[in-house]
Amino acid sequence: MGGSRCDVLVVGGGVCGLWTLWSLLEAGYDAWLLERSALGDGQTIASQGILHAGAKYRLPGNAVDASRAVAEVQEIWCAGLGGGAGAPDLARVRVLSRRTLLWTTGSVGSRLAAAGASRVMRSGVERVERGAWPAGFGGAGAGVELFETPEMVLDPASLVEVLRDGVSGRARVGRVIGLGTRDSGVVVELEGGDRVACDALVLTAGAGNEGLIGLAGGKPGLMQRRPLHQVVAIGAPFDLHGHCLQLSLDKPALTVTTGELAGERTWYLGGGPAEEGVGRSREDQIGAARAALARCLPWVDLSGVRFETFLIDRAEGEHGGKRPDDAVAVWAREGVLAVWPTKLVLAPRAATQVLDRLRERGIRGGGGRVDEALRSLAEPGVAARVW
Ligand SMILES: Cc1cc2nc3c(=O)[nH]c(=O)nc-3n(C[C@H](O)[C@H](O)[C@H](O)COP(=O)(O)OP(=O)(O)OC[C@H]3O[C@@H](n4cnc5c(N)ncnc54)[C@H](O)[C@@H]3O)c2cc1C
Repeated sequence: MGGSRCDVLVVGGGVCGLWTLWSLLEAGYDAWLLERSALGDGQTIASQGILHAGAKYRLPGNAVDASRAVAEVQEIWCAGLGGGAGAPDLARVRVLSRRTLLWTTGSVGSRLAAAGASRVMRSGVERVERGAWPAGFGGAGAGVELFETPEMVLDPASLVEVLRDGVSGRARVGRVIGLGTRDSGVVVELEGGDRVACDALVLTAGAGNEGLIGLAGGKPGLMQRRPLHQVVAIGAPFDLHGHCLQLSLDKPALTVTTGELAGERTWYLGGGPAEEGVGRSREDQIGAARAALARCLPWVDLSGVRFETFLIDRAEGEHGGKRPDDAVAVWAREGVLAVWPTKLVLAPRAATQVLDRLRERGIRGGGGRVDEALRSLAEPGVAARVW
């Protein structure tokens, strides 16, 4: 049992917490992070890893602000992936694809879908001529059209590993069981009896923020959940990273990214079926995924593919059940800042918002540090990949 004191304590080690911790350390704060299980063990490890740059958000029905926010962070991600300044060094992150495809189905609605795609084309998306199509599209029918965008796809597990390596051992395993105030700061009680005092507590625990806000006696109703029923297709036939387009809806008919589990190629399926399939049983969701694949890729033989599904909530700042246009960082109560990046790609904006909020309240650090108790905690591992 012991006590520690630091400027800022971050709770939750997904992409948001790790990026925020890096930013705090860069800004000179004496900051630490507590993770209750494994880093990324929530949405980050389950994310499709797409660094949206705006193409998807220019589909009909999406707010202009949303595409602006994702466009603004591209430079930061590029700097990080290039190992440059102003971002964590992400040069060792595994890039699964340097481009994302958008394709139309070639069915009855294909001409309309193509019109939707041409609208998207104004946002830096380029048509791919048939001669240059990837191998898996060789059998596509005459009505199919293919576009590409420079939006990258990252391996989320490798992103978490690299972010962890960039925070100098400042992420530790700890379970918060009590939160209280002392002087102008916050006191955190950990399972096992340790206590950590800090000027500010930054909650980046994804869906876990709700319980932590409750523990702190903070404002209720700050968080919303939007569930997804994701599908993993094991034994997929070729690499594919992209969205199958449909018209008149604000989301793709299917979003596919490609990974690997136990040496087998996987397709990770999100988009429309994941949102619509929340109430479905596993069997029904697999049936819906098969049907979506048959609609989007009718020329592909998937007879040898096996399917798994799981449910996961997107945890976001409350926005009337709709996706917020940006990252959200709000004071849940004095000294306790609750943060949701909204998207993995917006983690840098979440980190910037945290620094802004702290400075607005005059929290500048330098209050003296005692870190034996924090140093004695174990360093967390990275969550197991799910696709
Ligand atoms: C299926 C799916 C696909 C997605 N695809 C994309 C995509 O392609 N591109 C994109 O930009 N965004 C995507 N997103 C959104 C993106 O994944 C999230 O916005 C982002 O990962 C949230 O990160 P986070 O760090 O806030 O939360 P999380 O990743 O959920 O991390 C929270 C962390 O806090 C820990 N924790 C929880 N409770 C506690 C506690 N009490 N104490 C200590 N630690 C705690 C958890 O173990 C976890 O490590 C996707 C989301 C989902 C669900």
